[in-house]
Amino acid sequence: MSGWVRVAGLGPGRDDLVTDEVRAVLIEATDVIGYIPYVRRVPPRDGLTLHATDNRVEVDRATHALELAAGGRRVVVVSSGDPGVFAMASALFEALENGPAEWLDTDIRILPGITAMLAAAARLGAPLGHDFCAINLSDNLKPWSLIETRLRLAAQAGFAMAFYNPRSNARPHQFSEALKILREECGPDRLISFARDVSKPTEQLRTVTLSEATPEMADMRTVIIVGNADTRRIGQHVYTPRQVV
Ligand code: SAH
Repeated sequence: MSGWVRVAGLGPGRDDLVTDEVRAVLIEATDVIGYIPYVRRVPPRDGLTLHATDNRVEVDRATHALELAAGGRRVVVVSSGDPGVFAMASALFEALENGPAEWLDTDIRILPGITAMLAAAARLGAPLGHDFCAINLSDNLKPWSLIETRLRLAAQAGFAMAFYNPRSNARPHQFSEALKILREECGPDRLISFARDVSKPTEQLRTVTLSEATPEMADMRTVIIVGNADTRRIGQHVYTPRQVV
């Protein structure tokens, strides 16, 4: 039997936010590969091998998936949210590029999921209702100076912004730097929302102004949304108008 690889997004956390397409492919799989907490979300069953690995070994994981598929296995690589957003889909193609030419014939499909910023935006209201960008604040795979440049230019261009991987124990100071840049570029009154564990029972949503924001409001389970100059509150909701006047 010929093998395949699917790179699937499990959504932000809640089971009913997993797409039917992803559910169906998990039923057909012989192997599931991914970061430990994401693999844990897949119920074990006979005939399914779960390969849970630690973080930061994305390309090893992807290579393993391609090896298994070459041997006829049906492999699902799981990511949280959407697999194309700071996640395993790009890692799979990196492994494909570095692997043997025969792998190019592998049956590969990427199955989308609801990414954290969109799940968070929906809970908050509509803060990403106009032009926006997404920035990964981790400097694991790019220099911090580039992150600073992108923050500054995105703010100057008037984008609302979503930040992934905002603050980890390994780099607690960088997010303070990011806040400083944002205050310089956007002023003290700009709205910033911290959305933690979106869609999970532990979900926390908090919207403050940049002058009130502190680094401790963010961790690696938080996605952050900074509004544009027009983003405002209406009752309990935060939204960005569609029109720029
Ligand atoms: N592929 C994922 C993102 C992986 S990067 C996606 O599309 O959502 C990991 C970062 O995603 C975390 O540091 C956090 O910023 C964000 N994130 C993922 N799930 C989240 C959730 N349920 N609530 C808040 N942020 C989340």
